[in-house]
Amino acid sequence: MKGVLPIKGASGREKKAPKELESVLNRYFGYSGFRGKQLEAIEAVLSGRDCFCLMPTGGGKSMCYQIPALVKTGIVLVIPPLIALMENQVASLKNKGVPAEFLSSTQASHTKQRIHEDLDTGNPSLKLLYVTPELVATSSFMAKLKKLYNRGLLGLVAIDEAHCISSWGHDFRPSYRKLSSLRKQFPDIPLLALTATAVPKVQKDVVSSLCLQNPVILRASFNRPNIFYEGQKLPQPWKRLWKSWAPPKCKFFLWLAIRNKCWTSDRLEMRGLDHPVSCLFCDQEQETIQHILCSCVFARQFWHSILFGLNVGNLSPSRDEISFADWWRKTSKKIHKSKRKGMNSIIILGAWCLWIHRNKAVFDGETPSLSSIRCVFLDEIGCWITAGAKHLQSFGLVLARNLHRV
Ligand SMILES: [Zn+2]
Repeated sequence: MKGVLPIKGASGREKKAPKELESVLNRYFGYSGFRGKQLEAIEAVLSGRDCFCLMPTGGGKSMCYQIPALVKTGIVLVIPPLIALMENQVASLKNKGVPAEFLSSTQASHTKQRIHEDLDTGNPSLKLLYVTPELVATSSFMAKLKKLYNRGLLGLVAIDEAHCISSWGHDFRPSYRKLSSLRKQFPDIPLLALTATAVPKVQKDVVSSLCLQNPVILRASFNRPNIFYEGQKLPQPWKRLWKSWAPPKCKFFLWLAIRNKCWTSDRLEMRGLDHPVSCLFCDQEQETIQHILCSCVFARQFWHSILFGLNVGNLSPSRDEISFADWWRKTSKKIHKSKRKGMNSIIILGAWCLWIHRNKAVFDGETPSLSSIRCVFLDEIGCWITAGAKHLQSFGLVLARNLHRV
């Protein structure tokens, strides 16, 4: 039991009134109140307890460690599975004035050095440090953590997507298995395991693999009112389209795209509606739906990185591919039957992400970016899997393993 262990520095109980926590939430993140099990998770770790928190994707998991980081002494170490996710979170925290950094292979060496120097000072300015599970598994980084811990500067360790230690298999993220040593290395630092995977067997496995001690177990409701997987009835024509998992709006979009009925610049122009004349992805060609989804250099790069990440880079659209539907048809024929449903979902999801990305470029003036579209793509995969896209699961694993190295 943890209670009998001596309490060291930052691990001590630092209880805060819910009102106080709420005002921090409001000040930094602009929310008026906590949602779901957020407050309970925060209170659990602030009281020094381990916590297992099951929360749907998009349920606000990150608040469960970001708020403690803002009110607690010491650094909060966050271990997410993807570099893209940490880059995103760190950038958004910095925007809000929260001192956060990440350490990864993609980080420039002078940046890494600056972070290490900050950690070595007796009083680091950092509040949140994001690292990959691979880095935690190295002895040099573990030694660094030990130092922080011995100086009372490690406040909490949050393990995001904690199911990677279990259901996604040892082969998938062996480094997640190594996280089990955290409890032994830092016996009195609260561990927070977060996941959106609701399988009871997995939950049990996460708790035991991470050696959580007498953890507070929280399970948020998965009934989110405004999300697309609420058991909507699919109109017949969409249902017959493809035997793949996708929210109806995405399927409908694809249905329109394949029939060339989307509101691209050429079609708007025909109606005298104001719109950029050329494709905002490449600024070279006239924008048609086939171009956005398939022949544009941006689209081809996107498809290539995704398919390459799935070890089928050879199936990416070639330079002279002009029809998205034709390319898709050819591609799915080359995929083994057992994987075809998953691949169909990947293609629908990819096309949908390209379309959303294009809309952001057209309507919100956002700069097209491969890394940000890949990020959205991976987040959507997680969301679709939660929503019931079983065939995407294995694809998600392979992508998560390969894409974070891109
Ligand atoms: Zn283009």
